[in-house]
Amino acid sequence: MTNAQATHTPAFDAIAWSQTCTALSKEARQGAGGSFDMFVENVSWLVNKQLATLPEQHRGGAIEIAAADFNYETAEQLAERKNQSKAAGLCQHGFEPNHCPLGCGDL
Ligand SMILES: [Zn+2]
Repeated sequence: MTNAQATHTPAFDAIAWSQTCTALSKEARQGAGGSFDMFVENVSWLVNKQLATLPEQHRGGAIEIAAADFNYETAEQLAERKNQSKAAGLCQHGFEPNHCPLGCGDL
């Protein structure tokens, strides 16, 4: 006898969540100064704040959408991104320091 496990999750409103993420990514971009790394960090932080307001069963689906469509990264991924930038000699914003639009090379 097979035990077909019914995954009974209440409906998750993916469209509303996408709209929320669109607004968050707009906000994240404004604070990123043209840096993709900063943008990813901002959007992930903003999404995390929103995730905390969702029912727990919805968070998995919400993270999937945010990651697939809105550059959301987990804390581990963000840390990994920073390590890679550092190893490549890039500034904290993910640029060659002398080409950083936020002025790292001028300090
Ligand atoms: Zn920089």
